[in-house]
Amino acid sequence: MQILRAQELGMCFGVRDALAVLDREPAPADVTIHGELVHNPEVLALLDRRGFHRSGEAGRAVPATPVVAVTAHGISDRERAALLAAGKRLVDTTCPLVRKAHDAAQALAGEGRRVVVLGKRDHVEVRGLTDDLVAPIVVGGLGDVTTWPDARLGVVCQTTTQDEVAQELLAAIRRRNPHADVRFVDTVCAPTKARIQALLELLPHVDAMVVVGGHDSNNTRQLVLRAEHHGVRTCHVAHARELHADWFAEVRRCGLTAGTSTLPKTVEEVHGWLVRLAAGRVKHSA
Ligand code: SF4
Repeated sequence: MQILRAQELGMCFGVRDALAVLDREPAPADVTIHGELVHNPEVLALLDRRGFHRSGEAGRAVPATPVVAVTAHGISDRERAALLAAGKRLVDTTCPLVRKAHDAAQALAGEGRRVVVLGKRDHVEVRGLTDDLVAPIVVGGLGDVTTWPDARLGVVCQTTTQDEVAQELLAAIRRRNPHADVRFVDTVCAPTKARIQALLELLPHVDAMVVVGGHDSNNTRQLVLRAEHHGVRTCHVAHARELHADWFAEVRRCGLTAGTSTLPKTVEEVHGWLVRLAAGRVKHSA
């Protein structure tokens, strides 16, 4: 079996920088990570071992610790103000590209547009984006698109939305709202686009794909869906321990990619397992 890695894969600069900021925190026991830093169990276990507290989801109760870490997914200005008013010191690891999406949404609202966010309604990034807006609309799929009474609409995306999905939803919004002036700002982040593009280049050359990343990770799921959509058998694992030799029995060329919150170490462990499998050093079940 041959193993082909995507040209761009794994951890993005936004998550890497967020982890580096937390790494410099001298007293993790004083810090609550407000919401999941990333949807990746390996990363979360690492932070737990260092002694950080975790508050589950942002937007809920104010954490008890004196320091609160805002995750790469960001929070609303409203929530930031509430945390500061409660006397918390904020360690802000909001990704600059999420910040850019917030700025774009605010600018569209400033133009008198009702803002439409393309993304998952319950995702922490989308909640952060919408909490500062008046009557925002969240569109997670074609079923959410309808005719709105507004004469001016402004559309942005959750940063990990697939380009193709965003374009499809945008076209539907325009179709259902011919009376409206619709302005779209593409806020899909460059690392997400690069990983999708690298996957698309790899797919014609493989008969199976392994995608590494958290099972709740939006961008990892997008990589899986894209590979499956192209008819390539796809195995989604959070870490090497989830791999099974039997799955690869007929595979001749296996592609490898990973979501933006996957630790480099996890990618290398999966790659190492595949290399050992190809060399006949991993047993199939009897
Ligand atoms: S996926 Fe994109 S927006 Fe999210 S942290 Fe990474 S670079 Fe930033």
